[in-house]
Amino acid sequence: MASHGVESDVLRWVRKRIISWYRRRGSRYSWRTTKDPYKVFIAEILLRRTTATAVSRVFDQFISRFPTVQTLAAAEECDITEIVSSLGLQNTRAKHLREAAQIIVQQFDGMIPDTETALKQLPGLGRYGVAAVLNFAFSIPRPMVDGNILHLFRRVFGLSFRSVDDEEAWLLAERLGGRRQPPELYWGMIDLVAQVCLRRRPRCEQCPLSSRCKYRQRGSATS
Ligand code: SF4
Repeated sequence: MASHGVESDVLRWVRKRIISWYRRRGSRYSWRTTKDPYKVFIAEILLRRTTATAVSRVFDQFISRFPTVQTLAAAEECDITEIVSSLGLQNTRAKHLREAAQIIVQQFDGMIPDTETALKQLPGLGRYGVAAVLNFAFSIPRPMVDGNILHLFRRVFGLSFRSVDDEEAWLLAERLGGRRQPPELYWGMIDLVAQVCLRRRPRCEQCPLSSRCKYRQRGSATS
């Protein structure tokens, strides 16, 4: 089923409910309360393939140890690995962080770039991370799809998607976020999956989307 099969009024309702829920129940992680491009960039690399809770345990330590892109570019890889080891994939993550910082220092005068073309050159960000840096740090509206968002789309809209690279999912995110693509919508979706729409036992009775959720209406579904 194509993403455009979801009606616009349903999308508007879902957007409003998620943002309203996020304002009451969402987590205010330190990378969500700043527009500092360096902090947002670091957070997005740390957040790949791990949870926000896990990142919250190391983020402040990381920033105080490597407060600027220059300090990160000059760091020993083993020192970066040590701080990010609890997140898993620590060797790859540390390598990406250091290489990306070196590219930023050498090619972008030490400034986190604010274009898609430039951000794509940085290892470790990926399509979601590039969009997240543009959206969260530079207020450039961009849709985003990661595994959590895909999971929520499948449940709420009863749609199937191949993977996070499915263009239908990105089109649906674009329509859901509308002209502004508000960060609170995306943080809300991530937190909803972490707190309520759990993969094994979703807590539908606590969910702001339950009255229109396809998964709930069916009583069970594939996730
Ligand atoms: S109603 Fe249940 S299945 Fe649907 S989005 Fe909410 S928690 Fe997930």
